[in-house]
Amino acid sequence: MDNLSELLLQVQKPARYIGGEWNMVKKEWTPLKVKVLLAFPEVYEVGMSYLGLKILYGILNKRDDCLCERVFSPWTDFEEILRKNKMSLFSLESHRAIKEFDIIGISLAYELNYTNALNLLDLGGIPLKSSERGEDDPIVIAGGPACYNPEPMSEFIDAFVIGDGEEVVCELIDVYKNFVNRKDKLREFAKIPGVYVPSLYEAAYNDDGTIKSFLPKEKDLPRKIQKRVVEDLDSSFYPTDQLVPYIQIVHDRIMLEIMRGCKHACKFCQAGTTYRPRRERSKETIVRIAKETYSKTGYEEITLLSLSSGDHSHIREIVEELNSEFKEKGVSVSVPSLRIEDSLSRLPALISQVKKSGLTFAPEAGSECLRKVISKNIDMEKLVEVLRESYRSGWRRVKLYFMIGLPSEKDEDLEDIVKLLYKVSNLKREIDGKDAQVTYSLPVTEGSPEWCMKHGEEAPGLTDGESISISIYGSNLLKRRASIRTFTRPAEEARTRSCHGIS
Ligand code: SF4
Repeated sequence: MDNLSELLLQVQKPARYIGGEWNMVKKEWTPLKVKVLLAFPEVYEVGMSYLGLKILYGILNKRDDCLCERVFSPWTDFEEILRKNKMSLFSLESHRAIKEFDIIGISLAYELNYTNALNLLDLGGIPLKSSERGEDDPIVIAGGPACYNPEPMSEFIDAFVIGDGEEVVCELIDVYKNFVNRKDKLREFAKIPGVYVPSLYEAAYNDDGTIKSFLPKEKDLPRKIQKRVVEDLDSSFYPTDQLVPYIQIVHDRIMLEIMRGCKHACKFCQAGTTYRPRRERSKETIVRIAKETYSKTGYEEITLLSLSSGDHSHIREIVEELNSEFKEKGVSVSVPSLRIEDSLSRLPALISQVKKSGLTFAPEAGSECLRKVISKNIDMEKLVEVLRESYRSGWRRVKLYFMIGLPSEKDEDLEDIVKLLYKVSNLKREIDGKDAQVTYSLPVTEGSPEWCMKHGEEAPGLTDGESISISIYGSNLLKRRASIRTFTRPAEEARTRSCHGIS
């Protein structure tokens, strides 16, 4: 790849493709090592923010008999160059063509990754269908939340890992090393709990597309694939030497997973189901990981990750201890996923004593009735109490997420969102004399202003296509669902003017 530097000068962000980041591992390419490529079918900034990739990268590179590198989907400008020059997509560490690896492990975090994953394989000259791959091709393994229903991708993936990948990954490497041909490797993979090899199963479908029967083709294979779970999260591997990129990525900070799974069962929530059961890391482990990761990365922000951090049984003590450890160093602590609970009322004062960026809560629906429908049982009085505490503690930005278009939703449910927003705005005015700003994101559905702009059609009333976040003025905000899709304030004006209340 002699002319790579020259070609990279023609793209928007060359740092997406060069590797060499702080804490990158580049091992010698020797015949006895199993060569694994972790592929995240999204652009670098998104893929580098995915914790699962960091965990697997750390585990695999700790093994002497294995080397692990990374690849992400190229942005369209670089894809064009690769295709025009008939070049293969390559790994970030050794810059080798992705086809040279033994195993390609693709993360499928959500369904929109499916087509990107196929494009990524195509850019590496790897046959798309599992049945078309031969002995010289890598074995393509997929894992991640979008593999819980693997059937849509079953023609393209050689083996799926269902559940926590770190629990399975070393077993896959051991099998790979001990068997010679592809067929035997896949057959042995299929015997590992949590691994599904579609070519060894026969699925029959009903007329409506649902599965009629699902049977293994060989006797010694399991009829059901059991999800793998890390039982003891506290002692499981955690990557403290996290990669520090040269360019800004989506989550450019220390990501510290304090808990996996969620004790709630909100009906709309995929993560609440797929990551079960709830498991915690202890306060001692969390603080140790934070100190080690800080010393190895130098990041100035620590995000405590989980689906619902306020549910950790020691969240307040953890935040207190991290604050006392890091305050002097100028490192802030943030807790992005909070539920509205009693125990949270003191939390805003504790979190991010250094830098106050934003707190996020997700009531999801304005009315109690609709929240019951989706099993999101929260007490609005407690929410108001937490918000009051947040404003008092100096938080300028508090985000509340609502979903619109839920089953059985009525206009009154939307009105309740407006009423709550009035309350929040008044609360803010009481405390700091300023009103709340209300913004919403437009979904890119056909006919929406965003969709029109994207497809070069005249958007109703929107003059600028750069932003999907539009400030809203006036109490007619959510009166009619239709108004959400045909909102007529010019985007530029809405973005630049400051908001003077929602009343
Ligand atoms: S609390 Fe959050 S993570 Fe847990 S089930 Fe509900 S929406 Fe999902």
